[in-house]
Amino acid sequence: MRVALAGFNHETNTFNPRPTTLADFRGPLGTWWVGDQVTGAATGTRSVLGGMIDEGRAWGWDLIPIFFAMHPPTTGTITDEAVDAIRANIVDPIARGRFDGILLHLHGAACAENVPDPEAIILREVRCVVGSDVPIVVVFDLHANIGREWAEHANAIIGYKTAPHTDFYDRGVEGARILGRALRGEIRPVVALEKPPVLIKSGLMSMTTAPLALIKPPMFWLMSRGREMERETGIVNVSIAAGFGDADSATTGMTVLVTADGDRDLARRRARELARLAWRLRRGTQTELVLTPVETAIDRAIHAAEWPVILADQGNNTAGGSPGDGTAILAGLKAAGWPDAALFIADPESVNAAWEAGVGREVDLRVGGKNEPTNGDPVAMRARVRLITDLEVDFVTGDRKAHLGRAAVVRSGQTDVVLTQYPSTQTTPAYFRAAGIEPRDRRIVVVQSAHLFRAAFEVQERIPRMIIEVDTPGITSPNTTRFTYRNVPRPIFPLDDFAWEGADGD
Ligand SMILES: [Zn+2]
Repeated sequence: MRVALAGFNHETNTFNPRPTTLADFRGPLGTWWVGDQVTGAATGTRSVLGGMIDEGRAWGWDLIPIFFAMHPPTTGTITDEAVDAIRANIVDPIARGRFDGILLHLHGAACAENVPDPEAIILREVRCVVGSDVPIVVVFDLHANIGREWAEHANAIIGYKTAPHTDFYDRGVEGARILGRALRGEIRPVVALEKPPVLIKSGLMSMTTAPLALIKPPMFWLMSRGREMERETGIVNVSIAAGFGDADSATTGMTVLVTADGDRDLARRRARELARLAWRLRRGTQTELVLTPVETAIDRAIHAAEWPVILADQGNNTAGGSPGDGTAILAGLKAAGWPDAALFIADPESVNAAWEAGVGREVDLRVGGKNEPTNGDPVAMRARVRLITDLEVDFVTGDRKAHLGRAAVVRSGQTDVVLTQYPSTQTTPAYFRAAGIEPRDRRIVVVQSAHLFRAAFEVQERIPRMIIEVDTPGITSPNTTRFTYRNVPRPIFPLDDFAWEGADGD
């Protein structure tokens, strides 16, 4: 069996004013793998592609690597030029070859200038060139706005089941296994798709069972019911895309996808049941239930009997599209007299100033707040340079490195600020350790992350004694009412007050 392997990942926060260009995908933060580079880089890793490759080899396929592109979400809307190059790199080689099956890894939240759902276009064109009989299986990230068109072109569409994501590899294996069973004629996968009118931003999608996560957002309960359904005869996969309210697009919103074995009616009934459950649970996404104002959060952390306390900067979540230079918490730490704390800010100007001054010297800096108007003003600080270095950290799936570029650690009072050339999401303690900071030893550890940090910090290493989700401004704030949406289908909760007609039914 000849199976093509391809993909494209970008989670596009359309509120981020800086476009994502072709040069970005091909640049130091991007991934641009052509042909054998895909298998060369991803084989043996815990990524989705790593899982697809391992499982494909177990089935004895002739797995043909086509193309994979990726860029972190710290930049906004993708240029049409970049999307077109990606589309051509995926579709053209598939059109030239002959394939029995197609495996695609798409993020599901990509947005381009004039193409609201570029992944649907890629899927449509792949379907068009392979014809209707070749099974196509897609694996996506649950922070996704899946367009209705996806279900017309793919035979199975399966998403991550965890947030923080710990099942990249498992879903890659599952996607390849579903394709393998379809190719052998054991199953005939068909997908039903429902879109309950619920809008969630990325901060409120955690479904973690981590010990400090006392409140379980709706995604936790939806995923639990989905897992029950998967045990039912005839159901192949149940996936729930939480949606990505950080993109203002025509496909924005939650999506329920049920893949059944030949029985489209069964798939549709189960998808509708989950859509109704999502609607019933919608009020659990209200931010006032879970978020703490900056000043209160810092005060609680300073006076906590046990530490470290992790402050999770919700509005400045680089994994959800923030440029990584929000200053609300930095300003709060300054107002509190620079307590024992460590945090990251992407700010190449300040990095340069620290490099020029040199280790041991004092510098006057205006830190952060330079890339996006809602992210706070630059914070003036006089600081001593403790370290200058180039920073690189292994990415969580092991198939590439996170490049932070030139970096400097500067200290005011007892607060250490890690200034970096490029933004990063501190999802693991390794980021701090690479900068010479042991998070276990600090009273306050700030992460530019909504919830992805929990897997490594909380579950694996048990570092924090308390986690506070901080209500900062910035484009990744989970509070949808702070944003102006122009393209999202209306009505939608919580922007509109309405009764959903799909709330009752079969
Ligand atoms: Zn995600």
